[in-house]
Amino acid sequence: MSLRQRIHRRTYPLRVSSMALGGLVVGTTMTELGASTAVWGFVLVSALVWPHIAFLHARHSRDSHRAEHANLKIDALIIGSWIPVMHFCALPSIALLAISIADRNHTATRDGWLQSLFATFLAAAAGALLLRPAPEWEASLAVQLSMLPLLLLHSVFSSWSTRQLVRKLARQNVKLQVLSRIDPLTTLYSRDYWWQKARAALRDYRQTQTSACLLIVDIDHFKRINDSFGHTVGDEVLQAIGLTIRHCLRSHDAAGRYGGDEFAVLCMHTHLDDAYAVALRIRNQLSQLRVREHPHLRVSASIGVAAADPSFLSVKDWINAADSALYSAKDAGRDQVIPAAPLMAGSAPTRSGTDAGRAASRQAHQPEPADTLI
Ligand code: GH3
Ligand code: MG
Repeated sequence: MSLRQRIHRRTYPLRVSSMALGGLVVGTTMTELGASTAVWGFVLVSALVWPHIAFLHARHSRDSHRAEHANLKIDALIIGSWIPVMHFCALPSIALLAISIADRNHTATRDGWLQSLFATFLAAAAGALLLRPAPEWEASLAVQLSMLPLLLLHSVFSSWSTRQLVRKLARQNVKLQVLSRIDPLTTLYSRDYWWQKARAALRDYRQTQTSACLLIVDIDHFKRINDSFGHTVGDEVLQAIGLTIRHCLRSHDAAGRYGGDEFAVLCMHTHLDDAYAVALRIRNQLSQLRVREHPHLRVSASIGVAAADPSFLSVKDWINAADSALYSAKDAGRDQVIPAAPLMAGSAPTRSGTDAGRAASRQAHQPEPADTLI
């Protein structure tokens, strides 16, 4: 809802009703304690006419936000001036003050709230000096009853606006959660969310022997694409690569962007042979990828494939195994798929010297998500 819409739909009706009901409290007190015609005129105008002037001011002002802040200060001045008009009658004065302070808390910034508070007390002091009312602390039954509609309105509005706020927060949390799961460039899963999926798959494998395989796909010489065609084209290519990978998978597989030009794919209920076939399909599809404005641009990828293994204690171990295979593919000349050698029970995956160097530089670039437990 824009500010103008909010002023129209929420602030205006609320100001009209709360000023009118506040005026009812002040009017009832004045009827009992007496007031000059000028004071009656002021109270009637401030309670019944001012909300419409405030609305027109905010609506037609170039800066509605600023105009509404000025309106809030005038509200505060009015409430403050009503207190000496009521001869400081304790119950209605405190009720009006409390409601006004609480409402400002909802609508104004901290500075605005403090300024409004100052305006309220300033107006109360100025009114006291001007009218010099004899304090009348006790409130009659009529005054107490006149406060009920205002108190009712205030509590209904407070609970309604709290409910609105809770709903809005819940909607925004859902949006945030969705955003945190998706890599914005490729629209594949984000690294952290993909990692959670891999952790669940490894847990299933260990508990129920549900087979699963992991593919790490790294684009060959991607830096050259950036250098030759520019980063914008590089981004477009990464987007297209994400789409291509997704099209090669089944609905229960999970593809994520693991790093810059590196993608991770989890193939569920899949043995190594089938995962190898999926990896070949991805490699072949990527080699067909074309960018309309740059017909000479070619993409190739190296892919390492690793099946879940009882020796893997964490996703890191699984990724390391796929990484080793990927690095072998790079060392063997790129544009190929290499499956990880099945591990002997209890042995940890190993890397060659070049593999370790690549992995170290990647980890320095992006820390692994916490993975203490599978
Ligand atoms: P290799 O065959 O050894 O993988 O060579 P490479 O050039 O692909 O080397 P490497 O994988 O280490 O480099 C990846 C490059 O991807 C480095 C970085 O400039 C680029 N990159 C990373 N993220 C993005 C991105 O979001 N957009 C673009 N356009 N480029 C990116
Ligand atoms: Mg690369």
